[in-house]
Amino acid sequence: MTEAVQNVSQPQIEAENLNLWYGEKQVLKNISMQIPRNSVTALIGPSGSGKSTFIRCLNRMNDLIKNCRVEGKILIEGKDIYGPDVDVVELRKNVGMVFQKPNPFPMSIYDNVAYGPRIHGANRKDLDGIVEQALRSAAIWEETSDRLKSPALSLSGGQQQRLCIARTLAVKPRTILFDEPTSALDPISTARIEDLIMNLKKDYTIVIVTHNMQQAARISDYTGFFLSGELIEFDQTRQIFHNPQEKSTEDYITGRF
Ligand code: ADP
Ligand code: MG
Repeated sequence: MTEAVQNVSQPQIEAENLNLWYGEKQVLKNISMQIPRNSVTALIGPSGSGKSTFIRCLNRMNDLIKNCRVEGKILIEGKDIYGPDVDVVELRKNVGMVFQKPNPFPMSIYDNVAYGPRIHGANRKDLDGIVEQALRSAAIWEETSDRLKSPALSLSGGQQQRLCIARTLAVKPRTILFDEPTSALDPISTARIEDLIMNLKKDYTIVIVTHNMQQAARISDYTGFFLSGELIEFDQTRQIFHNPQEKSTEDYITGRF
């Protein structure tokens, strides 16, 4: 067996007793979670409960925040990402992120998608194919193929968000983190992105923070409920929505919060 053969039962992401402080303030408390490959996991919970902080730990984006201290472990594909010898650039290539507000670079549609592959040394002659493939996978090729040199900022909000997804896909991550990717979008754009996320899980492992309970119920396989920095409950989505084990989970999903 070669090293490339992965243990299929190994979770894509494992958090083990993760604690995080901003200065003196503890924001994540003993979070443990196992996320299987090729699944969609929704993280729900009130504002300020630590959802964004948690997903930012998964590609060490929190390293960029001063005063941030992490204890505990996160394993991605079995490897401790806070351990020694971790290449953070490589980690962030493997674990991509899409934000709430679409944030295309102020350059053309083409250059947005080509940006990451160029940095990672893609061959010039391969770029057209990489860009097309990423735009197709993000379900925005049909709308952009005749205007690839147009400014990305000329697209609608929903299109910009799909372009940002294409930009992430172009560097071939294996995990994609979405932080409230549809909060700034209209219902039709939201539905398109939900469909897209459900489609992507055959090739990627997806973690999505959302305030939208219908969205979590519709698109996710697993749901985690955060409250005050703790992971109160993590289970299959239908279990969380139909048979929550904790009263606070039930209160939150039924809107009694
Ligand atoms: P959520 O995404 O669930 O709304 P966050 O992870 O953004 O929650 O925030 C969790 C807590 O951490 C909040 O109390 C927030 O005020 C605090 N926080 C977030 N970012 C920082 C930061 N850079 N410095 C200090 N405190 C922060
Ligand atoms: Mg947040």
